[in-house]
Amino acid sequence: MIEVTKQKLDQETPTDEALKKWNDWKWQEQNLIKDVKTVEKILNIKFTEEERKDIQETIDIFPMSITPYYLSLIDSKDYKNDPIFKQAFPDKRELHIAKYDMLDPLAEDKDSPVSGITHRYPDRVLFHISNVCAMYCRHCTRKRKVGDKDCIPSREQMEQGLDYIRNTPVIRDVLLSGGDPFMLSDELLDWILGELNKIEHVEVIRIGTRIPVVLPFRVTDNLVNILKKHGTVWINTHFNHPKEITNSAKEALRKLAFAGIPLGNQSVLLADINDCPRIMKRLVHKLVENRVRPYYLYQCDLSEGLEHFRTSVGKGIEIMESLRGHTSGFAVPTYVIDAPGGAGKIPVMPNYLMSWSTNKVILRNYEGMISTYQEPSDYRHDVCDLNCETCNLQLKCQEGEEKEAIGIAKLIADYNEVITLTPSE
Ligand SMILES: *Cc1c(COP(=O)(O)O)cnc(C)c1O
Repeated sequence: MIEVTKQKLDQETPTDEALKKWNDWKWQEQNLIKDVKTVEKILNIKFTEEERKDIQETIDIFPMSITPYYLSLIDSKDYKNDPIFKQAFPDKRELHIAKYDMLDPLAEDKDSPVSGITHRYPDRVLFHISNVCAMYCRHCTRKRKVGDKDCIPSREQMEQGLDYIRNTPVIRDVLLSGGDPFMLSDELLDWILGELNKIEHVEVIRIGTRIPVVLPFRVTDNLVNILKKHGTVWINTHFNHPKEITNSAKEALRKLAFAGIPLGNQSVLLADINDCPRIMKRLVHKLVENRVRPYYLYQCDLSEGLEHFRTSVGKGIEIMESLRGHTSGFAVPTYVIDAPGGAGKIPVMPNYLMSWSTNKVILRNYEGMISTYQEPSDYRHDVCDLNCETCNLQLKCQEGEEKEAIGIAKLIADYNEVITLTPSE
């Protein structure tokens, strides 16, 4: 393995055979790099005794796994500053548990009606169908589970999750997550997508994957054909740095886009990796150039051992300020904090609405220009009882649809008598 990797790294023109192996995702998977010695060998670097001890201690708790492809993107001459290296290679700071760190900050295990399912929002669920990833991101929010054994669940176990979805008609959107769903075999993926597609109330299937970033060769023609076959599949990938958008990654994205699959990207804001308006702007530009819509920019979660990756929230807002108005609107992600305890994703952004009166709002734009918007003087407020003729006619609503508003929408609704939300506990 090392030979092929070295050829890829060292030679201008690797042999055809070496290249063929390199581009075979199964070869990459069989040759995952899991020990420090191999990293030293391939990058041609040498850690000190002390460094090696720290790294090993970290790996013993949070294992390492890097695809030869992803490792090959590291600039070995300046590896300590390399954004790929920092996302892939252990750091003893991961062993530090900060005061507010949590094992399961998003309460995914708490909001789980059956094993593998997190059901938090009214109409959509997270379905963990794999615990395996090709590359273990050091900033993984599910670090608690990284490296667990017996990772790809059996069909029987997946049936539990499927049954829950089958028996819960409000679910119209299923997010396949993990681990990485693309670590499943083509056959298993084909099967699960087929089962989900048979469920009438499931309108959309989403796949969250980092494969195009860490193992783009996994996006084979066969995989793409399977995805294409199963109707409404959306894919969200996880690029964090423009350096990750290589020719191989572009090719994987091109195949997916050509198959008509809408592509989004979820980045995590990471200290010393992408916490910079210039890097973020370059990243979103490269994404849209490859037909990937920046979807979310996440504030780094409060999972244990991630403190050194976290930035202030202000840094995220600064980045949003540098994007909105300064570049294409569809290149601007929504900056969110996935709030602890299962509060879910909460968008945070600069304030654009400065003030308002009974008939006017005061706004500011990205340049700081302050403007007014005059509201209509005769806008009629229709009381909504969820049963007005116009909507019924236009939506052909069946009765019984959208019976219950929740949260702030409930306070706003005319058809609900509730006037306060009382925090319990
Ligand atoms: C992120 C997430 C979703 C999907 O949220 P969207 O805002 O629709 O992308 C659904 N369920 C859980 C538990 C999540 O964490």
